[in-house]
Amino acid sequence: MTENCIFCKIVRGEIPSRRVYEDDDLIVFHDIHPAAPVHLLMVPREHFANLDAAEPRHERLLGKMQLLAPRLAREQGATNGYRVVTNNGPDGGQEVYHLHVHVLGGPRPWKRL
Ligand code: 5GP
Ligand code: ZN
Repeated sequence: MTENCIFCKIVRGEIPSRRVYEDDDLIVFHDIHPAAPVHLLMVPREHFANLDAAEPRHERLLGKMQLLAPRLAREQGATNGYRVVTNNGPDGGQEVYHLHVHVLGGPRPWKRL
């Protein structure tokens, strides 16, 4: 499962990405197809599909990402507001089934969302 996961490959460094932050729990890099002037993806090092697959032990990790978002948004230049989004499942618009949090910001209009 994780062998073919694109975000696992990015976590392992097998696919290049423009990283802006990393620690023992997660990495953060620029989305390859930005939907806003600032578009970051926060990706846990551990593979799990989405919030449906999250467990109580992920509570600290999920909270950590929410609290990290404002800092990274600001550092990347989103100084006038931002969105923090997790897509879940087909009707949620999820394309990559490795949980991730989008951080979108910068001057509007944005391409989508
Ligand atoms: P989802 O639709 O699953 O919530 O979002 C997946 C996001 O991953 C999309 O915004 C897409 O542009 C981004 N993405 C997909 N493949 C790559 C990649 O190889 N590198 C980077 N940096 N972003 C990717
Ligand atoms: Zn994965």
